Amino acid sequence: MKCSKCDRDAVIRIPYANLYLCKEHLNEYLEERVERTMRKYGMLKGVKRIAVAVSGGKDSTSLLHILHRLSQRLGFEVIGVTIDLGIDSGRAYSSKSVEVAVKNFEALRVPYRVVSLKREYGFTVEDAKRGIRRPVCSSCGLAKRYVLSQVAEEEKADALATGHNLNDMAQFVMIGYYSGDVENLARLEPVSPPKFYSHYKIKPLFLTYEKEIMTFALVNGIPFMIESCPLSWRVGGTTQEAMRRKLEELEEQVPGFMLRLVETFVNKVRGPLAEKYVREEEVSKCKVCGRPTVKGRDICSFCAMRLKLARSQGVSKVS
Ligand code: AMP
Ligand code: ZN
Ligand code: ZN
Repeated sequence: MKCSKCDRDAVIRIPYANLYLCKEHLNEYLEERVERTMRKYGMLKGVKRIAVAVSGGKDSTSLLHILHRLSQRLGFEVIGVTIDLGIDSGRAYSSKSVEVAVKNFEALRVPYRVVSLKREYGFTVEDAKRGIRRPVCSSCGLAKRYVLSQVAEEEKADALATGHNLNDMAQFVMIGYYSGDVENLARLEPVSPPKFYSHYKIKPLFLTYEKEIMTFALVNGIPFMIESCPLSWRVGGTTQEAMRRKLEELEEQVPGFMLRLVETFVNKVRGPLAEKYVREEEVSKCKVCGRPTVKGRDICSFCAMRLKLARSQGVSKVS
């Protein structure tokens, strides 16, 4: 098929917009889409420096490339951040992810930080899996949120951008409805204003389909990791994965389904949920790291996790 905008061969079909696009027009389409999303949802207001959280997967590496392309025209700087989670038994998953992230930072010549959980905080996600009695993905998520906010603050970034795409958001919305987790639903927003810290958290790809991002990464020869985390793998798959597959089937039958689902949620449903279910939390200071924590708690959940792990390893103090 030919591109709907020029004579070149198309690399992708975009059913909900009734378009076929060549590589150049896909690039233009995605840049415009991300710019429009960022403007519409206020992701650019007063933002001069964006820290991009890069895991090495297709979404966050593509996000890095798109934001880098937009940065000059829109007048912001980009800095890359990648966390070495230490998931290396067997397939060297984390080492390879960091390598790929750094390859992208250097190819684009963006300044970057690599943070090793082991070196800077004394443990790996594999240690957390062995030493903490909670699902490893939840310990890993806590560590990523803490470290990414910390780096964004240190680097004086106005915003911290993650690579969550439209398919991720649609899945979160449906899982939230399914489980009735209204508080989590209320917090599911494309832009979270600074609460405890001074930076926004933004998801510039939240209205972009996974297939478009995958094609963007492939046709532009962007290095990325295809493998998924070996610790999150489960026999038979999870409810989340089943929901994701069903959403993809629905999208085939009703082009634009996920877009409508997520836009409706963000524009109409989330606000009233937040009003009803989100209470302003008072803040106090963590006695270990000095960072903000929920009032009434002496130490933050990240430091509590570190302390537990240190105790299980026979160390009595963390610094
Ligand atoms: P996940 O929670 O693994 O689905 O990842 C969601 C987003 O978090 C990614 O798109 C990245 O922006 C960011 N992220 C995940 N893992 C890392 C990592 N190891 N280092 C930096 N950012 C990450
Ligand atoms: Zn074209
Ligand atoms: Zn703390």
